[in-house]
Amino acid sequence: MRGKGGGGLFNPDIDVRYLKGIGEAKAKALARLGIHRAGELLSFFPRAYEDRSVIKTVSHLSEGESACVRAMVVSEPELSRLGGRKELLRFRVSDSTGTLLINIFNQSWLRQKLRRGESYIFYGKTQLFGRSFAFTNPIIEAEDEAGRLTGRIMPVYRLTSGINQRDIGRAVRQVLDGVGLDVPEALPAETARRNRLCTARYAYENIHFPGSAHALALARQRLVFEELFTLVCALSLVRGEGEAKPGIALEGRDFSAFTSTLPFSPTGAQLRAIADCARDMCSGRLMNRLVQGDVGSGKTLVAAALIWLAAENSLQSAFMAPTELLAEQHYATLSGFLSPFGIKIVKLTGSMGAKAKREARAALASGEAALAVGTHALISEGVEFKRLGLVVTDEQHRFGVAQRAALQAKGERAHVLVMSATPIPRTLALIIYGDLDVSLIDELPPGRQRVDTFAVTSAYRKRLNGFISRLTGEGRQVFVVCPAIEADPEAMKELVSAEEHTLELRRALPGLSIECIHGKMKPRAREEIMARFAAGETDVLVSTTVIEVGVDVPNAALMIVENAERFGLSQLHQLRGRVGRGGHKSYCVLVSDAKNPESQERLAAMTHIYDGFKIAEEDLRLRGPGDFFGARQHGLPELHIADLGADMDVLKSAQSAALELLEADPNLARAENRPARAAAERLLAVTGERLS
Ligand code: ADP
Ligand code: MG
Repeated sequence: MRGKGGGGLFNPDIDVRYLKGIGEAKAKALARLGIHRAGELLSFFPRAYEDRSVIKTVSHLSEGESACVRAMVVSEPELSRLGGRKELLRFRVSDSTGTLLINIFNQSWLRQKLRRGESYIFYGKTQLFGRSFAFTNPIIEAEDEAGRLTGRIMPVYRLTSGINQRDIGRAVRQVLDGVGLDVPEALPAETARRNRLCTARYAYENIHFPGSAHALALARQRLVFEELFTLVCALSLVRGEGEAKPGIALEGRDFSAFTSTLPFSPTGAQLRAIADCARDMCSGRLMNRLVQGDVGSGKTLVAAALIWLAAENSLQSAFMAPTELLAEQHYATLSGFLSPFGIKIVKLTGSMGAKAKREARAALASGEAALAVGTHALISEGVEFKRLGLVVTDEQHRFGVAQRAALQAKGERAHVLVMSATPIPRTLALIIYGDLDVSLIDELPPGRQRVDTFAVTSAYRKRLNGFISRLTGEGRQVFVVCPAIEADPEAMKELVSAEEHTLELRRALPGLSIECIHGKMKPRAREEIMARFAAGETDVLVSTTVIEVGVDVPNAALMIVENAERFGLSQLHQLRGRVGRGGHKSYCVLVSDAKNPESQERLAAMTHIYDGFKIAEEDLRLRGPGDFFGARQHGLPELHIADLGADMDVLKSAQSAALELLEADPNLARAENRPARAAAERLLAVTGERLS
C-alpha cells in the first residue's frame, strides 16, 4: 500500500517501533495491546473521549467538572519543595469572571515557560480549594498554539504500562498522515453510498481526532456499520450460505404411533413445531430450524418426536447439550420417550471413562445406536456415525457457529434443529444462528401455574426458613441457588456460597434433608444427588447455577435465589422455570441486599413480568446488551467498535446490505467485493475459522 494523500511513501505494514516516538520499549507496550504493525493503530479505536472542546469562564465552573478555561497568569509561579523529591509549582490565573488556583506537581520546568501577564488555555478537573476553585496538573497550551491538546475532543485509549495517551495519539497521527487517502476500505462503494456513510478516510480521522461531536458520530456510524457488515458477510461465508443445500429426504409424517405412547397429549404448539420440522425434513432440502420456547414449554418432546422420525427412516441423531448435567438429564428423558420403540441411545460426555466412551463410539459407528446424547464431547472425541441424519443442539446460544457446524459435518447433509429458551430479536438471531427458520412454542402445557415471585432482603431470612419448613411439611421440595461455590474470603461477606449456605440451612432447619450440588463435583456424585432429589428423598437442594437449564423435578415448588442481583433477568427467569412444573402452587423468592436502584428495579421487574420474551426485552433495556448478547457467549468474533445490542439500528441496515450483496455475489468473488471478503477473512482469522 502506498500513501497518496498524506505524503510520500508510507508502509502501514512496518513494525510500530519504526514510528517516530516509539522505540523498542514502547513497541513492547503496544504489543501487549495487540498492536504490532503501524497500520493496526488505525483500528485501535479510542475507548472513550474527553470533551475539551468547550471553553468555560471561571465563574461558570462547577465542582468536579472537567473543562477548559482561557485565563491569564496573574501571580508569579512559586516553587516549593515538599520533601522527598516532590515539588509544587503554584500560581493564580484569572479571566474576566474570576480567579483559579493552579497546582502543578513535579514539573518545575514549567516555571520558565509560563509568563505572568500571558494567557493560556488550561484543561483540568475543578476542585474546591478553600473558597476558590483549583486545577491540579492541568493540561496547558499557550493561546497561539491552542487546538492541539485543548479546544477539541480528545481520544482516550486503552493503556498499558510503558505507554501513555500522548504516545499513542502521536503514533496514530503519524499513521493517518502516512497513509493519507489510502485507508483500509471494506465496504463496496455502492453500499457506502446507499447507506449514506462517510468515507473511510473521514471515519478513521474523526474516530481518532474528532473535528466535532457530529463528525465523531458520523465516523462511528460508518465504522460500526462496516464492522457489522463484515461480521454478517463472514458468518454467512463460514456457513456456506448462498449455495443450494439439499438434505436427506425422510418419509412418513404421521406421528400418532409416537404420540400414543406418551403419558400426556402434546400441546398444539408442540404439534405445530413438530409438523414444521417434519415438513422440512421430508422436503429434500436441508432443515435449518430454530425452535424457540419459554422454559418448560416442552422442547425436549419436540426433539424426541423428530429423533423418532429419523430412526423410523434408519437415520441416526445427535443431541448436544451445553453441560454434563443437562446431557445426563436429556439422556434420561429421551430414553423415557424413545425406549418403547426399541431405539438404542448412548451417552457421550467428557467425564466418562475410556471404556464407556469406546463402547459408545462403537455403537454409533456400527449404527447399532440410533441416538447419541452428549456434550461437546460429541465433536471432540473422534465420534463417527454410520448415518447421521439429524443434529439437535439444546440451549444453542451457548454453542459457537463452529461447534454446530462441526457436529453437522459428522453426517452428510444432516438436518439441523436448534432449541432455545432465550428469546432473541430476529436481527440478532440471524447473526447468531444464521439464516434459519423459526418455530415458536407459544403455549405451555396445561396445568402450569404462574410462579409467584417475591424480592426480599436477607432480613426476611427467618420468615423464609419458616416458608421452607411449611412447604416441605406439605411434601414439596425446594431449590436454593447461590452464585458462588466455595467460601471465598474476599467475597465472603457479600456472597452466599452454596456450601456455607447448606450448613446454615441445616442448622436452621434440622429436621430436613438438605444436600448441596455444584459444578466442581464429580459428575457421578452430582448425578446421585440429583437422582435423590428427583426421587423426592431430599427436601432441599442447594446448588450453584448448574441446575440453571433443563433440570426437571415436578414436585419442586419453591425456588430461592441468593444474591439474586448477580444474575441476569433471563437467567432468573430460567431458574424460576425450574418450579411450577407439577401442578403445585409454586413460588420464587429472590434474596438480595443490593442497594443500587438499578438492581432493585431489575428484581422488581421479576415480580411482575412473567413472560420470557418480555423479560428478555427488559433485561436488554436495563442491563444493556453487554452480558446478554455477549459475543463470547455466542462464539462470535470479538467486535472492536460495534455493540450488538446498542447498535441495533445500524445492525439492521448493515445486515440487509450484507445479505443483499451476498445474494448477488455469494462468495464475494467480484472485484468490487473482494475487500469485503478480505475483511471478513481477517475477522474470522481471530476465531480460528477459515473460509473454504
Ligand atoms: P423445556 O426444555 O422447553 O424447558 P421440557 O422439555 O424440559 O421443557 O419440558 C418441561 C416439562 O413439561 C417436562 O416435565 C415434560 O415432561 C413436560 N411436558 C412436556 N410436554 C408436555 C405436555 N404436552 N403436557 C404435559 N407435560 C408436558
Ligand atoms: Mg430444555
